[in-house]
Amino acid sequence: LLSFDDVSKSYGDEQVLDGVSFAMEQSDVEVIIGPSGSGKSTMLRCVNRLTDIDDGAIYLDGHSIHDIGVNDLRRRVGMVFQDFNLFAHRTARGNITLGLRKVRGFSKEDAVAAADEHLERVGLADQAASYPAELSGGQKQRVGIARALAMDPELLLFDEPTSALDPELIGDVLSVMGDLADEGMTMLCVTHEMSFARSVADTITFLDDGRIAERGPPEQLFEAPETDRARDFLGEID
Ligand code: ATP
Ligand code: MG
Repeated sequence: LLSFDDVSKSYGDEQVLDGVSFAMEQSDVEVIIGPSGSGKSTMLRCVNRLTDIDDGAIYLDGHSIHDIGVNDLRRRVGMVFQDFNLFAHRTARGNITLGLRKVRGFSKEDAVAAADEHLERVGLADQAASYPAELSGGQKQRVGIARALAMDPELLLFDEPTSALDPELIGDVLSVMGDLADEGMTMLCVTHEMSFARSVADTITFLDDGRIAERGPPEQLFEAPETDRARDFLGEID
């Protein structure tokens, strides 16, 4: 469903992605881990063209993302951000109906019905009329997930979706993500939540200095990392 073929990206003199290649099938859950500055966010941002790559190619369902219109691409690839990125002056429901109306062309009634359905899916049926300022961080993030889901994406990108949350709110968000994985959603997630990575991911990618230093199933990465870099990194965060 998604593949990177020798993708490189620099900011000025700094090479941030250096020959990254990997592929994900439909319904795969891939977790990217790695030190700060290793290029994890950049990798995600390249997929929906928030950032452009310098070399190589990225394919979504067999087509280069550069041959897909950027609006179409962003409809098909949802993104959930660390800092939620909700519209402050719109309710939870209004945050979701906006894209449904503008991008998917839903009528007002259909957009409201779909928004409420997605809010229910993330356990927020009773918060539809709340503004972001009235929601906890965990609730805000679940609105962010509902908003991404409402676009009916083929792939969801998560960039540290729980790292801005108080510890007691992280579980609700991870449990929604776990449900999505169970339902077969294809997910590419940057996270430091190692218990989530262990229990939900099909594959872990360890990114180090813009390169995939190691990639494999969680058992292998966590129990028997092959590289010193991965071993050191996992030793530090566990
Ligand atoms: P973190 O764990 O801290 O979120 P990361 O692995 O997500 O880190 P990136 O955000 O992808 O890392 O950044 C990789 C490198 O690219 C960093 O050195 C960063 O300073 C640089 N970088 C990222 N975005 C830009 C930008 N828009 N302009 C210039 N440099 C950038
Ligand atoms: Mg990042």
